[in-house]
Amino acid sequence: MIENTFGKNIIPENDTERIAALEQYRIMDSPPEDCFDNLAQLAREFFDVPIALVSLVDAERVYFKSNVGMGSTKESNRGKSLCALAVLDREVTVYEDALKEPCLIANPNVAGDFGLRFYAGAPLISPAGFVIGTLCIIDKVARAFSKKDRQLLAKLAKAVMDQIELRAAALSDRSTHEDEKVTHVAFSEELQAMNEEMSATNEELANSRDHLVQANANLEQILNMLPASVVVIRGYDLVVEMINTSNLTYWKKTKEEVLGKPFLEILPDLADQPFAGQLRRVMDTGEIIDVKESPVLFDAGDGNIRETYVDYTYQPLSDLAGNRNGVLVMSFEITERVISRRLLEKSAKELANANMRLLASNDKLFKSESRFKFLIEEAPVAIGVLHGKELFVETANTKLLEVWGKSSGVVGLPLAEALPEIAGQPFLSILDDVFRTGQAFYANEIRALLEHQGELRELFFNLVYQPVRDSAGAVADILVVAVDVSQQVQSRRLVEQAELTTRLAVEGANVGTWRIDAKTMDIVASPRLKQLFGFAADAEVSVGQLVEQIDPSSRADAVAQMEKVISQGGSYDITYLIGRDGEKKRWLRALGKLTGEPGDDATLFSGVVMDITDIKEDEIRKNDFIAMVSHELKTPLTSLTGYLQYMQRKVSKGDVLSVSMFNQPLRQAKQMAEMINGFLNVSRLDSGKIHIEKSVFDLSELIAEGQAEHFSVYGTDQILFEGTDKLLINGDRAKIGQVLNNLVSNAVKYSPVGASVQITCSRSDGFARVSITDQGIGIRAQDLEKLFERFYRVENNNNISGFGIGLYLCSEIIERHGGRIWAESELGKGSVFTFELPLES
Ligand code: ADP
Repeated sequence: MIENTFGKNIIPENDTERIAALEQYRIMDSPPEDCFDNLAQLAREFFDVPIALVSLVDAERVYFKSNVGMGSTKESNRGKSLCALAVLDREVTVYEDALKEPCLIANPNVAGDFGLRFYAGAPLISPAGFVIGTLCIIDKVARAFSKKDRQLLAKLAKAVMDQIELRAAALSDRSTHEDEKVTHVAFSEELQAMNEEMSATNEELANSRDHLVQANANLEQILNMLPASVVVIRGYDLVVEMINTSNLTYWKKTKEEVLGKPFLEILPDLADQPFAGQLRRVMDTGEIIDVKESPVLFDAGDGNIRETYVDYTYQPLSDLAGNRNGVLVMSFEITERVISRRLLEKSAKELANANMRLLASNDKLFKSESRFKFLIEEAPVAIGVLHGKELFVETANTKLLEVWGKSSGVVGLPLAEALPEIAGQPFLSILDDVFRTGQAFYANEIRALLEHQGELRELFFNLVYQPVRDSAGAVADILVVAVDVSQQVQSRRLVEQAELTTRLAVEGANVGTWRIDAKTMDIVASPRLKQLFGFAADAEVSVGQLVEQIDPSSRADAVAQMEKVISQGGSYDITYLIGRDGEKKRWLRALGKLTGEPGDDATLFSGVVMDITDIKEDEIRKNDFIAMVSHELKTPLTSLTGYLQYMQRKVSKGDVLSVSMFNQPLRQAKQMAEMINGFLNVSRLDSGKIHIEKSVFDLSELIAEGQAEHFSVYGTDQILFEGTDKLLINGDRAKIGQVLNNLVSNAVKYSPVGASVQITCSRSDGFARVSITDQGIGIRAQDLEKLFERFYRVENNNNISGFGIGLYLCSEIIERHGGRIWAESELGKGSVFTFELPLES
């Protein structure tokens, strides 16, 4: 029963005759035959579809004489198979997309799991004109099918039909022979009829031979149109029976060179390759060999090998009696594809290798980078990277952040923002230069003011700005390396300062220095030391030469002390006289010390020498002064004591003392009091305690008064004073009076008895000038300048007693009034002492 799924009539008008024609071929339900299977296979491969069928449409069913790709299905219901539709037409029936065909919507092959989408069926048309079946191809995806495709499928269908005819002819030939035997024995009377039949058969045979020739021609044409290489090999000698153009091209042979010849004779170069063996195996076992991408190596003839690749299938072929005696070889050359794929694979492999190496080196790099990062991070030197023209802080190690006095929050900021305090300092413009010129910048002990916890700190760095270039060669980053040398700089500054202070002290104190190597006694002496010892500042001197200069009175002692310190250590402090005979002797004080252990190498005996002549002389004068003061005080004291003892004796005897008896002791006491007063004034001056009580007074009046009251002791006629107009002075009247008194008393003291002393006073340029002129012993030029020094007394001044403090006091008092005092004199002719005081305006 037909289960019509197509929604339309599928039985043609001539169906009864058509079925009768089909039955004549005696092909229904016959076993599979290679020739049909090969053609179906050919169709499948050529059109590259999964399924190809040779179908025969019976009354109620469709029988698949050949089924390639649809499993073991032998038949289908006529109402379901699309071939039932194809046999309605003499042209190729094509459904490019089954889903778009209304008649196929309900078809189970389309709607069901099978999922048929494409169908093309070419009718198998018998010589009598009946469509008995189809050669059809089926796909599960929709696809286009060109006019040329239709023609080709129709041609293949024609070849199938030829095979059907051929098969039928062979069958009838055989049955005819059997019939002949029977009829020959049983039905001689039917000989005539048989002959007729025979001739008809002969005719049919001739026809079928023609068909055969035609079929072969068709087949050859089809084969030559195929892009695949096809060759039919027969027999154990592997003789080439049929070959298409594509295969000849591939073998690089002509048809004549190959047809009828054994395979290995044609291609002896393939003898060592597996093909011949495989061909024979297919013939032996009937198995199908399907090899993908097999290399085939041909002798190129020029000593080279032509390397090719093919996908190939060996399918057994049988003769009509079903004996396997041949192989259908179909192959596709894929050399180019393989080579290009190999190239691709090779480069992929190389790429993979390169990747591996890259990965490995990346790994190494990563490790070394992390090691490097750690090193940088923990380095005791400040290191950082500034990126781009904006100088973004890209990295800053712990030390850099520490010297910057900033947290890691500054990373990522432009430097100018990270360290706002450097505006106005040279760094940003230096960095800008480095970026612009690509030249590294180096600096030692460069000064920077950086803010640490809100406080601007002075720091010093040894600094490198190193430009880092990118792969294109442009400066991309600046590497900053900075060593904080603030402490060194500061301590060096301290040392420098201390050295400077010492040098200034030494120079200021006019001190000479020396350094003696305790072992070799080589000396390094400063220029000043050499001068102090009476040598030129740049002279070469030895210890011995210096020692020579010491006055014999202290030389032995100086040498002994020096040797003691050098051999035993400790310090050296000695004062000695220096100076050759005839030269003025000078006092030197030497202070020294041994540095290092006595006896060691590199032990130094070093120290300073200073000129203490002035101090020494002052000291001597002071000592003389004390001796003299004692002596001077002793004289009035002795006479005072004498007077007192005398008066005591008188009183004890009951005598009356007269008033005049007290005059002498009183004068002595007054003299002593004056002397003591003078000493007190000196000590007051020394300690800066002398007090000036200023008032405005008339200087000439003071002189006149002095002349009247005090100078009388010297004899009034001796002191000459011519008064002038008022000379108003703002000063200490009593102290100026003391100055006058001193000068007048000296003039008298250092003049012969009775010589006159003249006092003159005048005004000049806002000053009052007073001169005291005598005709006394005079003063030598070399003493003149020293007269006003404390305790200075001219030597050998005729044993006139004095303390050498009078003129010193005078000059101090005058100077404290803003005036000046000086002396002019000629030995033996007298002296003029003059002072000037500013006038009150
Ligand atoms: P003294 O107590 O020794 O007089 P002074 O300071 O008054 O001390 O004087 C210092 C020295 O100056 C004296 O020792 C003396 O040699 C010298 N001198 C002072 N006045 C005169 C003078 N009018 N004529 C000569 N020599 C004088």
